[in-house]
Amino acid sequence: MKIILSILIIISLQMCSQIKQPENPKTMENFTTKNNPYYSRTDRTKLSVPNSEWKKILSPDLYAVAREADTERPFTGKYNKFDELGEYYCAVCGNHLFRSDSKFSSTCGWPSFFEADKEGVAYNRDTKYGMERIEVVCKRCDSHLGHVFNDGPPPTGTRYCMNSVSLEFVGDSEKK
Ligand code: FE
Repeated sequence: MKIILSILIIISLQMCSQIKQPENPKTMENFTTKNNPYYSRTDRTKLSVPNSEWKKILSPDLYAVAREADTERPFTGKYNKFDELGEYYCAVCGNHLFRSDSKFSSTCGWPSFFEADKEGVAYNRDTKYGMERIEVVCKRCDSHLGHVFNDGPPPTGTRYCMNSVSLEFVGDSEKK
């Protein structure tokens, strides 16, 4: 009888340990960086990772924008109205892209910057949808970030129009 009781207790303990706690929003937000072996904020070595691999790692929203050049709906992104001091990194690979000093209030509906980290971004000609635009991609992982236009404020006159989902912000107060 004692043995049966012991077995029952062990089984019930195992069942309890298998019940997963629901993940909080903060954890979900960091899903990409925690399960992404390519993510680094210091390594700038060029990556060559196929989309089949990124699809397993990235959230569907980030994959659609970063790897399929989708655009998030205007005025919906988490960094559209956001003015904390810190650094913006590529949400796919961790490459440094922008400093908050270059962010400005744009009415276009997407987070906008007048200057990018020259080592962080690269450019492609984009003629989709009958428009002539310049696509901005991450220099390290080639992920789509947004587009750049020549109607920005001083001192550069440049407007980097970015998708929030492609960016990962780290505040100055969070730096270790
Ligand atoms: Fe990247």
